Amino acid sequence: MRHGHPQVVAALQQTLETERMRLRSGALPVTSEILVERALEALEQAARPHLRRVVNATGVVLNTNLGRAPLSHESLPAVAAVASGYSNLEYDLETGKRGSRYSHVEALLCQLTGAEAALVVNNNAAAVLLVADTFARGGEVVVSRGQLIEIGGSFRIPEVLSASGARLIEVGATNKTHPADYERAITEHTAMLLRCHTSNYRIVGFTAEVAPETMAAIAHAHGVLAVEDLGSGMLLDLAAYGLPKEPTVQETVQAGLDLVTFSGDKLLGGPQAGIIVGRRNLVDRLKRNHLLRALRLDKMTIAALEQTLRHYLDPARALHAVPTLEMLTRPLETLRQEAESLARRLGGRFGSLLRVETLDGLSQVGGGSLPGTFLPSVLVALTSEKMDAQALSDGLRLADPPVVARIERDVVLLDPRTLLAGDAERIEQALEGVLAP
Ligand SMILES: *Cc1c(COP(=O)(O)O)cnc(C)c1O
Repeated sequence: MRHGHPQVVAALQQTLETERMRLRSGALPVTSEILVERALEALEQAARPHLRRVVNATGVVLNTNLGRAPLSHESLPAVAAVASGYSNLEYDLETGKRGSRYSHVEALLCQLTGAEAALVVNNNAAAVLLVADTFARGGEVVVSRGQLIEIGGSFRIPEVLSASGARLIEVGATNKTHPADYERAITEHTAMLLRCHTSNYRIVGFTAEVAPETMAAIAHAHGVLAVEDLGSGMLLDLAAYGLPKEPTVQETVQAGLDLVTFSGDKLLGGPQAGIIVGRRNLVDRLKRNHLLRALRLDKMTIAALEQTLRHYLDPARALHAVPTLEMLTRPLETLRQEAESLARRLGGRFGSLLRVETLDGLSQVGGGSLPGTFLPSVLVALTSEKMDAQALSDGLRLADPPVVARIERDVVLLDPRTLLAGDAERIEQALEGVLAP
């Protein structure tokens, strides 16, 4: 890599300064070759992007800290094309007049979900905020006590509702909410009944919640809105692949909900986005809310989302093309072969420094999707005589490229489920840095 003059000068000055300090504290001088090498290292370090690619070897398919869903290969050229040039983002090519950035994916979303209209904003938190601000400001929103969710610390249904100027009316108990609880809570101030998908916890045992159809019927009998925050928002039913049955967006729309919101970068497997689908007249009102300007999507996101949604036009292909779906439905036999191949590769290269074995284990869906669901996998276990599991895992995380692994019972585990093309080489390169620096 070539570096600019100011960067080279800064790296040399920094290296010499460090060396002077070392000498002052009584250390022995090093050769000028070593100093040049240190300056080069400092240069590389400074030139490295702060946001960079990491290898996710945790087996947690959707990890918000690791950027959630990786985009499909087919999405990337579309993103690059609109990012590197001009686009018809808000320009109608037919008429030559001003167009809408929200028009590019609306028809696709309607076709895929069966909804009348759709709108996409920055993320699902923004989608819920926009819906509450548009329809419940100054009014009441009725939510079951079993569904007062918190997602990732800063998104809590009670706080989002109060930020939008709506009053939260809690109904039912933590474990059970009945139709009559909603009925009794409705007053002249009620704006909407809101269902929230409990996407990162599960209430089990003596439980009851009100089905979307029932809640929608109650809302409509009283002339108020029925809204659902679906969280992950699946378009395909993955029950055939051993995953728990989750309500799809289509089923939720069909159940009669007026508006349904979900994330673009959870199970859908697209870019960060918040998708709202539902009745045309309501979506039109959302589009007229001035808050929308502050929640709007970027052109790269729209390009990635459009390509992601196109995969779903052919569900059988989507299972392979959309990385999150592919990882979730990858057969155990394939995972076994991948684990064995990775173990052979790492054992062959580092066999004298590491013990490398495969063992049966579990992967997690993660990212506020399918809580408590574990998928069988085959893991690669690494143990070193020279360092403990924590030191080995720290080394991998600090390596270039960084590799994020799991530790269980003092063993470093690599789960092939979340490894992408080229990751085996990246792991080998990272280990090289850790074991033979
Ligand atoms: C994840 C989640 C959110 C927040 O979605 P973001 O796209 O991360 O903003 C809101 N509600 C539910 C139920 C969720 O699962």
